[in-house]
Amino acid sequence: MNNEQPKIPQATAKRLPLYYRFLKNLHASGKQRVSSAELSEAVQVDSATIRRDFSYFGALGKKGYGYNVNYLLSFFRKTLDQDETTEVALFGVGNLGTAFLNYNFSKNNNTKIVMAFDVDPDKVGTEVGGVPVYHLDELEEKLGEITVAILTVPAQVAQPITDRLVQKGIKGILNFTPARLHVPEHIRVHHIDLAVELQSLVYFLKHYGNE
Ligand code: ATP
Repeated sequence: MNNEQPKIPQATAKRLPLYYRFLKNLHASGKQRVSSAELSEAVQVDSATIRRDFSYFGALGKKGYGYNVNYLLSFFRKTLDQDETTEVALFGVGNLGTAFLNYNFSKNNNTKIVMAFDVDPDKVGTEVGGVPVYHLDELEEKLGEITVAILTVPAQVAQPITDRLVQKGIKGILNFTPARLHVPEHIRVHHIDLAVELQSLVYFLKHYGNE
């Protein structure tokens, strides 16, 4: 990682993977440049925000030209540490967990689920999507240097698992359970409650959909 890079605001950093994925597709289709309006349409972020975000990357769009796709891609690669794969552990090989294991994140991304944990004897000892499933009791032994975890377990066991992960030095948790997790301040939790997201989409469509 290049330490000389200026610090990017967190809100901007969160949008980086979104930009990165879109630009990669553009690049693959042979496009050399892109306007902030085009980007805005594709990633659903307003173009003023995009221009501000990109100014942090040292990418200043030119009027009538837009942004240079190659420049942006190489910046994102460096910033997102694309050369280095981040290994991830998944907890709970149920319906959602199984889908994640079968979904090959590393195809478009720099992350890879390398191990999974469950307590169901039918699942422990098997491989799902090429990923070994260990018993939860083996967490401390197997986790190694892994610093990112995905939780797709029942809500009531999310906190005790989190506590063990914290003990092991986890840095980030992607929480798909409805449980609100308590963690020390230096640990980052991103919470994705699919039921709530869907409900809020439907609410917005109902109340603001026709405007
Ligand atoms: P399924 O239909 O396979 O039960 P699900 O997603 O509906 O999937 P959940 O009850 O949400 O089922 O459980 C998700 C997974 O978490 C299951 O595979 C279950 O065995 C596992 N699980 C339950 N308790 C724990 C635990 N303490 N640690 C790890 N995994 C657990």
